[in-house]
Amino acid sequence: MEVRVRYAPSPTGYLHIGGARSALFNYLFAKKHNGKLIFRSEDTDIERNVAGGEESQYNDLLWLGIVPDESPFNPNPKYAPYRQTERLEIYRKYAQQLLDEGKAYYCYCTEEEVEARKQEQLDNGVKAPKYDGKCRNLTPEEIKKYQEEGRVPCIRIKLTPHKEYRFHDLVRGEMKFSSDDLGGDFVIMKSNGLPTYNFAVVIDDHLMDITHVLRGEEHLSNTPKQLAVYEAFSWVPPEFGHMTIIVNKNGKKLSKRDLNVLQFMSQYREMGYLPEAIVNFILLLGWNGKDNKEIYSLKEAEEAFNEKNLSLAPSTFDEEKMKWMNNYYIKNLSDEKYLEFALPFMGKVLDVNKYSKEELLHIADMFKSEISYGAMLTDGLKKIITPTYDLDEEAVSYLNLETSPKVYQAFIDALSEVTDLSKDSLKAAFKKAMVDSGVKGKNFYMPLRLKLTGSHEGIELYNIIAILGKEETIKRLR
Ligand code: GLU
Repeated sequence: MEVRVRYAPSPTGYLHIGGARSALFNYLFAKKHNGKLIFRSEDTDIERNVAGGEESQYNDLLWLGIVPDESPFNPNPKYAPYRQTERLEIYRKYAQQLLDEGKAYYCYCTEEEVEARKQEQLDNGVKAPKYDGKCRNLTPEEIKKYQEEGRVPCIRIKLTPHKEYRFHDLVRGEMKFSSDDLGGDFVIMKSNGLPTYNFAVVIDDHLMDITHVLRGEEHLSNTPKQLAVYEAFSWVPPEFGHMTIIVNKNGKKLSKRDLNVLQFMSQYREMGYLPEAIVNFILLLGWNGKDNKEIYSLKEAEEAFNEKNLSLAPSTFDEEKMKWMNNYYIKNLSDEKYLEFALPFMGKVLDVNKYSKEELLHIADMFKSEISYGAMLTDGLKKIITPTYDLDEEAVSYLNLETSPKVYQAFIDALSEVTDLSKDSLKAAFKKAMVDSGVKGKNFYMPLRLKLTGSHEGIELYNIIAILGKEETIKRLR
């Protein structure tokens, strides 16, 4: 049987690090077993969908190199459509089948009534209140009365009492749940005619011949509900695997609302992270390779991946490690690729048309080994091009009313004679100016640096001058 796995995002937002991880592991699983990866849009939570969410999630996956074999954009007619809102007739048909077979029933209770009765259970000491099955056996008169009141029913599944659902989780081993702990007969079709997640997902996974469901731990408690639906249809369920949660450095579950941590692919993209670095970083979130090997290309990951190495411990999202990884991939870019990567970030502060390709590469190279992401290149250049003059006290202590002006003049004179701005020529100019001004060391370099960049830190002074050019350097020193 062909292995078919899926990544099934709800387009209620953009591609998140957790979603990207699910997609990547499904992709690797498919590759390993010569199977197919399906991208399905679970878009029935209509109010929460965001415009462009589905497309941007899909495009971000492509950017990472995770190319689905089937999706709304490259459908296989045998399984299409791939958007749940385009499959509503299918869910209605299957819900009707369960109604006809007495495995589901119309429920006329309002949400408020259900909640009030659950509250009563709580008040009576019940720890886990559930839907009490009030509408399971309504008489024709009761139904008529509800209909006359204008109530629009939802459809609930009839759970088999005391039924044990067992499955072998690919990550966590044997799992066992009781049908008594599922909160009572749950809704499969809402009164607005839309299916619930736990119903639609089963119909789709079954009809799309999904063989393995690999998803986040937050869905573990949904699995027994889904097994109850499989049971109602007498369908064979797929295998399940639930990946551990991703936690921040304090051990707390990564929350999409935590604005301190970058979590969306679009943010990484914008900041200048490389897709190769992100894929590598995500791969190690919950998966361990051999011999603590850390650097994997996507191709290498495809070869090395084994679902048996998915870890059980929560995966810690370490931003420093991500920066380190991105820096590693930046450093290893060829000149050509690096310049292509760097140009948009340089273009935010430099008029790149004024420089030759060699000059641009030279400037970009000054930052190559230091930057963790592209935006740092913009910041580094900005400090030089448009200084803000926030002077550090220690740095200011090197400014001297008597000697500093001598340094500026001596260097202006020395620089004027220089014909190219290579490192060697500039170093020679520094030497000459030191002799002419009689000032050395920090008393020489610091005033120049402060005057040119307004800051006591930054890249090498000769690099700064190469970026500013001769004219601008002299202008600033005057
Ligand atoms: N639409 C669900 C989500 O975004 C998919 C869950 C699943 O993979 O079953 O969480």
